[in-house]
Amino acid sequence: MKFVIDWGHGGSDPGAVGNGLREKDLTMKIGKMIGDMLGEYEGVQVIYTRTDDRYLSLEERAEIANKAGADFFLSVHINAGGGTGFESYVYNGNVSQATIAYQ
Ligand SMILES: [Zn+2]
Repeated sequence: MKFVIDWGHGGSDPGAVGNGLREKDLTMKIGKMIGDMLGEYEGVQVIYTRTDDRYLSLEERAEIANKAGADFFLSVHINAGGGTGFESYVYNGNVSQATIAYQ
């Protein structure tokens, strides 16, 4: 099973910034931890969209997953728009470009 793990933001795009933290750094650390854990399972292949601090467009991230034939795509983010706890957005069929949210 191929997992593509996307470390949200990166490079010139820091994502949310506050309290001395940048979202792009946290998504890198969390995404790596997730990848390391999944990689311990037999039959699991982990692919990252980026492995350093670089900017990738949404299209580039999707292309990496599609070219790899990903079974599962996870984009890690730390939302700063209010709310608490955990949010999970699940792709459930065809979605027009206008309705794709990126946080
Ligand atoms: Zn984000």
